[in-house]
Amino acid sequence: MMNDLNYDVVVVGAGPAGSVTAKYAVKNGASVIMLEKRQEIGSPVRCGEGLSLEGRLDEIDIKIDRRAIVRQIDGARLFSPKGYVLKVGKEMAGNECGANIDRDVFDKGLAEDAGDAGVDIMVKTMATDLIRRNGKIAGVTVKHMGETFNINAKVVVAADGFESKIGRMAGIKTALKPTDINTCFQYFMVGVEERPAYNDFYIGSIAPGGYVWVFPKQGDCANVGIGVNLASLNKIDDVGMAKKYLDKFIANHPELNCGKPIKEIAGAISCSLPLDQTVDDNILLVGDAARFIDPLTGGGIVNGILAGKIAGEVLSEAVQKNDLSKNFLMKYDKGWRQEFESKMLRNWFAKEKLITLKDEVFDNVLEALQGMDIEHVTTLNILRAVQSKYPDLVAEFEDML
Ligand SMILES: Cc1cc2nc3c(=O)[nH]c(=O)nc-3n(C[C@H](O)[C@H](O)[C@H](O)COP(=O)(O)OP(=O)(O)OC[C@H]3O[C@@H](n4cnc5c(N)ncnc54)[C@H](O)[C@@H]3O)c2cc1C
Repeated sequence: MMNDLNYDVVVVGAGPAGSVTAKYAVKNGASVIMLEKRQEIGSPVRCGEGLSLEGRLDEIDIKIDRRAIVRQIDGARLFSPKGYVLKVGKEMAGNECGANIDRDVFDKGLAEDAGDAGVDIMVKTMATDLIRRNGKIAGVTVKHMGETFNINAKVVVAADGFESKIGRMAGIKTALKPTDINTCFQYFMVGVEERPAYNDFYIGSIAPGGYVWVFPKQGDCANVGIGVNLASLNKIDDVGMAKKYLDKFIANHPELNCGKPIKEIAGAISCSLPLDQTVDDNILLVGDAARFIDPLTGGGIVNGILAGKIAGEVLSEAVQKNDLSKNFLMKYDKGWRQEFESKMLRNWFAKEKLITLKDEVFDNVLEALQGMDIEHVTTLNILRAVQSKYPDLVAEFEDML
């Protein structure tokens, strides 16, 4: 029989956001436990595994397991439906290009880092409910190996990913509109043709409202996946359609259909704005649970880690001051908004526009860019360059410019 446990902070979910929050929260002596419902942290991998390790992540005190870095990537290539290609250097290609990682090793490394800092970790432990005392959140009820018990805590961190239930249980509005959800399907493939060190994105009606990605891994392996916007699917489509779109794409690409899938995984991501509310008395939401995924690119690891650091620092201070009120935790809310809210807003507008475009427009824009030296300029400059040559084409993006 497990006895109830007592901690200052309980973190639900051991993804990147949970591990970094926990590590920073424990720093000044708070007692912290992190729970993971799966039997193994990091597995199965639901991720394209593209990650920029430079820039923002340099500022975070985390140990990245070098074995997690599978292949260095020089940039991104964007393919239009007719095959026009836009090549962008890694400094311009965003948070998902720089290195292709092994998420399984990466996530385990971050959890190990948190454990080394003093965080207690329980796997195969699912938070099933919030405990409330005198109307206030006071921990979580958990299930572990068939046993149910309570973990009492001054504050609960919802780092429980896209499907997050903890935030909703706390009364925070986490629901998403269909236009703000991408349903995803991915294969880990072996035996594909070796590819250059670029992460490839294919846009257009082959992946309605989203894209197909082909991220090369070591040798003849690649992470190949698709995200399709729920609202862009035809009425006759179902959520399983993502796999059908991806299979069709692979069948039409001989350099991929010579390979074999050794893993297949379905998932979903938000392509929404971040939540309006990410804290309340005795509760804080971080990572995908707070809808921190970039709505344009679908990348969420970097934002989850950046916000995790801010969350952990605020929690550590809150525990020291014994003030876990919404008022105090708003310091975290303000912190992450300063860090990346404006970029998310801009990319959400871009996504809203992109899901309405037809194949013809993608082809025309990318065709217009052929032969230009654009590998090292910003997206805005690219759009301005197209605008000066073909104003009609960019009319679709006028408000963004
Ligand atoms: C198909 C796909 C491809 C992607 N590709 C990329 C990419 O290439 N690059 C990138 O940057 N991002 C990518 N993302 C997004 C990225 O995976 C997420 O943004 C990132 O994992 C967020 O981290 P997190 O810690 O918030 O959540 P997660 O990594 O989802 O971790 C949440 C954890 O909480 C656990 N959990 C949930 N409920 C409970 C509970 N009740 N009790 C205990 N544990 C619980 C889950 O098991 C999970 O381990 C992709 C996502 C998908 C679905």
